[in-house]
Amino acid sequence: MTNNIKTSSLGYPRIGKNREWKKTLEAYWSGKINEETFRAEMAGIQLQHLKTQQQAGIALIPVNDFTFYDHVLDTAAMFGIVPSRYAYDGGDIPLDLYFAMARGNSAAPACEMTKWFNTNYHYIVPEIGGQTPRLIENKPLAAYRFAKEQAGIEGKPVIVGLYTFLKLSKGFAADKIVEVAARFLPVYVQLLQELQQEGVAWVQIDEPAIVTGLTGEEVELLGTIYREIAAAVPGLHVLLQTYFEAAEPLEALLELPVQGIGLDFVHDGGANLASIRRLGWPEDKWLGAGIIDGRNIWRSDLDAKLELVRALKSHVPDERLILQPSSSLLHVPVTVQGEDKLKPAVRQALAFADEKLAELSLIAAAAGEDGQVYAAALAESREALNVFRALPERGRQDVAEQVRSLDKLPDSRSLPFAERVKVQQQKWQLPLLPTTTIGSFPQTPEVRQARLKWRKGVWNQERYDGFIRQQIADAITFQEELGLDVLVHGEFERTDMVEFFGEKLAGYLFTKGGWVQSYGSRCVKPPVIYADVAFTGPMTVKESLYAQSLTSLPVKGMLTGPVTILNWSFVRDDLSREEVANQIALALRYEVQALEEAGIEMIQVDEPAIREGLPLKAEDHEQYLNWAVRSFRIATNHVKATTQIHTHMCYSEFNDMIGPISAMDADVISIETSRSHGELIVSFEEQEYDKGIGLGVYDIHSPRVPKVEEMTQAIERALRVLDAGQFWINPDCGLKTRGWEETGAALRNMVQAAVIVREKS
Ligand code: GLN
Ligand code: ZN
Repeated sequence: MTNNIKTSSLGYPRIGKNREWKKTLEAYWSGKINEETFRAEMAGIQLQHLKTQQQAGIALIPVNDFTFYDHVLDTAAMFGIVPSRYAYDGGDIPLDLYFAMARGNSAAPACEMTKWFNTNYHYIVPEIGGQTPRLIENKPLAAYRFAKEQAGIEGKPVIVGLYTFLKLSKGFAADKIVEVAARFLPVYVQLLQELQQEGVAWVQIDEPAIVTGLTGEEVELLGTIYREIAAAVPGLHVLLQTYFEAAEPLEALLELPVQGIGLDFVHDGGANLASIRRLGWPEDKWLGAGIIDGRNIWRSDLDAKLELVRALKSHVPDERLILQPSSSLLHVPVTVQGEDKLKPAVRQALAFADEKLAELSLIAAAAGEDGQVYAAALAESREALNVFRALPERGRQDVAEQVRSLDKLPDSRSLPFAERVKVQQQKWQLPLLPTTTIGSFPQTPEVRQARLKWRKGVWNQERYDGFIRQQIADAITFQEELGLDVLVHGEFERTDMVEFFGEKLAGYLFTKGGWVQSYGSRCVKPPVIYADVAFTGPMTVKESLYAQSLTSLPVKGMLTGPVTILNWSFVRDDLSREEVANQIALALRYEVQALEEAGIEMIQVDEPAIREGLPLKAEDHEQYLNWAVRSFRIATNHVKATTQIHTHMCYSEFNDMIGPISAMDADVISIETSRSHGELIVSFEEQEYDKGIGLGVYDIHSPRVPKVEEMTQAIERALRVLDAGQFWINPDCGLKTRGWEETGAALRNMVQAAVIVREKS
């Protein structure tokens, strides 16, 4: 019996099972291989990915999702969108120019890089100036031919849609988008015509920008774009693909003259199915149903998925139903195969890209006419999930009880800020414009090697601890000599600010090969919250206390906040993110208490990722910020009035976040400013902020040593809107990526700048 339900994949991870993609890129960049070898190796990797999907039985296999760096950069390059600061003659884009746009070269800095919607993937921001877009190279066509010739695959080219491409670009005023779209439409049409001519059946046009919300004009613009496309390529099946959230208003999309619409049924809060129930599904359209989570790493509950498919089948006939992951699998690791260190009950609960494709094939088959044949496979999956769900560490009574009793905890500090600040001034006796740093000092190769030796067992605990103590002692001397007012221990014992805590908290696991691409060749291996998070014992007290014992100046305790720990982990999906954040917050609350009891009474709780968790739709922001701010308060509000809570934020613009930041009620915040181009300071003109604040006075992302005058100017600029009594002097962020020499020179200048402004104040 035949099965009419098709399967599709929206994109496959680029990095390869053993990160061979990354290694090939870096080998080329460092000159170890030439361009020819590079291209040949990349083609091999690309082919491997195609074959893997073919073997998984996927009907519509994506092509052009593979890239040498980033798919948005590919799109810009394909249309000749090269900023004028690069030497470019308008012809083909040589590989080195392509990489220069991504990474900069000696002549011109790189293009800006920013987060791809609410993921931890970063794309290169196209700079659209006055250029006339032209089709320099039809990359989707080349990818289609490659798959056909090399693997006999009838591929489905994936293209970033024009609407989304423009929404993600910069270089033109937002109200000019219609005119800019008109300039690009002919080249999009040309690209699609060439695909049609080649005999391509389906194209997937990615328009995730739709889910951030549509105004009336935006709906109109989408109409213009897709009507023009439909008229030009009547023979092509266009699947308009959305993901990461509900597509609303769905009625607007259903009116577009496209053959199919792809929706995310995992991250939409149920809204997409509700819309279909309300509106029905048009007879002339296909539905790309994103039913498997493309963003998380857990085995699916296949019974629940089948139920969803059945619900969809009552609106869409089998012949027009395509089952697919909710988004590209770019956001998950490649395969669970190598994870032999995990206990079976946990390992079996994981599903990375390859396992998700297998799930998809199974669901499509089981949802078809001869579904009974698959009962055994379904039962096996159900059993694996049941075993995982029943793990005692996932249902801890003590943790549940504590989270439940959160409402009984005081909601705020013992004194409001206006009163705390007085007792704190008395206790700490800091000078006007106190100087400090953000926490980490250079992680030299020596530090990294020491940790490696300890992890491998070459060094025992004692030897490693001794080494770390020596680093801390040197850092304290270094800071005292520079004349800083508030010191840090330097974070030498931490590889990563989330992993360090994950390893010490209950509820975490670490994979061997769970890498995902963050940007370019840079991959991260997020820790995994698989069970209830709980405190198991002090995590940072030893190092902080040792540092404090060496100096009479205050040393800040240094923790990562609950929201950042959450946002940089893969998180179990049976609890809400809010609940998991509360579990982490409660664990950190114990750590804060342990520090305070040990006499560490200035404690910094970093929340660099707080803004990253913002939902895509503006109307959902408030709810997220409410629980995010609350979890920070849970972690910190139980300290004595004299204990000073600091926090730190970076990687984003915070102009619109002053209200929530203030609500966190930290006594002092340090914020990165180099990314906001002065706009952040302007927002303080408009909004009252009364607590301690340090706006980074120099950018730590470059080895350049800032001059004293640059920093006195930055300070004076800030003091036009902020009170000298509340202002702190610090760099933009932690210094772990810098060298000691430049760090010393920069901080020496920073302290001098503080002294100069202090004397004038
Ligand atoms: N305390 C951390 C450090 O200095 C903060 C890092 C960050 O903001 N990302 O490294
Ligand atoms: Zn930072």
